[in-house]
This record gives sequence, structure tokens and C-alpha cells, in this order.
Amino acid sequence: MGELLSGRTAVVTGAARGLGYAMARGFLQQGAHVLVADVDKDAAAAAAEQLAAEGLTEATAVACDVTDELSVAELAERAARHGLTIWVNNAGILRNGDMAGMPLSGFRALIDVHVQGSWLGCKYAGMHIGEGGGSIINISSIGGKAGLAGQTNYSTAKAAILGLTKAAAKELAPRNIRVNTILPGIMRTAMAEQLAPEDLAARLTDVPLGRIGEPHEIADAAVFLASDMSTFVTGAALEVSGGRFM
Ligand code: NAD
Repeated sequence: MGELLSGRTAVVTGAARGLGYAMARGFLQQGAHVLVADVDKDAAAAAAEQLAAEGLTEATAVACDVTDELSVAELAERAARHGLTIWVNNAGILRNGDMAGMPLSGFRALIDVHVQGSWLGCKYAGMHIGEGGGSIINISSIGGKAGLAGQTNYSTAKAAILGLTKAAAKELAPRNIRVNTILPGIMRTAMAEQLAPEDLAARLTDVPLGRIGEPHEIADAAVFLASDMSTFVTGAALEVSGGRFM
């Protein structure tokens, strides 16, 4: 427990589980009030209850579909009533497959959630973060830097998030809103569990630190970027990957 974020309000999208949940938990442990936003509203409510059960009572579950502009706008307006300062664009999906067999809908779905969702998040967080400034964190991926076969949709979307981060960082800097991105490597979440075991083992051979990452290791990086520990950091791409594809 700490006080790096005490008195601040944070939004984390896709926070019902996985890395989003870990970041929400990390922010709560540093004294923030967190809106746990997810398209799966029952899972978001269960996540807030689970956090409360460990004494982290400042979590509020909110239904939000990041592909829906009105839904994102409403989330930002609600957060602004509490003094919004931190916003994490984390919601994500996978639709893996070779390009030849991938329907256009499988490409568009990734763009809708990851790219359009993050852009909407940057737009509305930028409009609703108050005069004191704040921090927006976009969750990209090492796959957006290196490109992964079988994930042309995902690598395209995650690379786009790098460009979005830099452009938004320039646009919002005059209002002291910092915009940074984290590139997780292979992390222990449900998303990684969708990989075949042999595929996971093959990928881990590329990791100099030689292991899968734990969700709290992304949360630690997010606390750094959300807090006053990083007041001169904007437009940065922070790889938290055990050195994979460095
Ligand atoms: P996850 O599948 O465990 O959780 C994703 C969450 O996003 C779920 O709760 C889901 O309901 C929610 N979500 C999906 N679509 C949504 C929408 N339209 N609106 C709101 N919420 C929505 O995934 P994860 O592994 O925790 O990944 C989180 C983020 O980190 C993603 O952006 C992912 O691409 C990125 N990432 C993950 C890894 C990894 O190894 N797990 C590696 C690199 C990057």
C-alpha cells in the first residue's frame, strides 16, 4: 500500500480481469478511486466486489463498450464528476489467424476495439481531465513493435496505438496531460492462455529474462506512468517484456 495516487480518480477499460484488473488493483493500492470499466458488466461488478473483499473499497464497476462513442463519452463524464486524472486504454480482444483465412470482420473487430477504442479514450479523457493535468496510458504490445505471424490484425492495431500515443501526447501536452504507452510482452492472463502450449513455450524462448510476466509487473509500470514519479515522461513507449524483441 502507498499514497502515490491518493485523491486521484482513474478509469481503466477492460478492467474486469487480466492486466486491466491488475492495473485497477495497483492504482487502488496507491490510494486512487478507480472506475472499473468493462463491456462485461457482471464481470466488472464481480471484480469490484473481489477488490473490496481485500479491503480495496474505492472501486466502482461501470459498464462501457469502448467501440461505442456514447458509452466512452458517458464514462468520461461520470469520471469527471469525481475529478478525472488517470485514464488507461486497456480493453482488448484477439482474433488470431493467418491473413488468407481471416475474414475482414476479424480485422475490423481488432481495429474497432484496440484502435478506435483507444482513440475514443484519448479523445474523451483529454476533454474531461481537469486543469491540473493528468496521465493517459495506452496499452500496446510487443506485437505492435515486432509484428507477429498469425496476428496481422493485432500487430496492425497495436502499432497504430504507438502513433496515437505520440500524436495525442503532442496535442495534450499544453494542458499537462501526459500520454504514454506500455508494450507488455507475454503476460500470465486469459489472453495468453488462448495460445497453444507449444506456441507459448516457443515464444518464451525469445524472452531474455526467460519467463512469462506477471500482471502486477504491468501494474507497477502503470503506477509509475500515472503518478508524479513520471512528470517529465510523455510520448514514451515503455516495454515491459522481459527483453523480448528489444
Ligand atoms: P483479457 O482478455 O484477459 O481482458 C480483456 C478485457 O477487456 C476483458 O475483461 C474484456 O471483457 C474487456 N473488453 C473486451 N472488449 C471490450 C470492449 N469493447 N469494451 C470494453 N471492454 C472490453 O486481456 P489481457 O491479457 O488482460 O490484455 C489486456 C490488454 O493488454 C489488451 O489490450 C491486450 O492486447 C494487451 N496485451 C496483453 C498481453 C498478454 O500477454 N496478456 C500482451 C501484450 C498486450
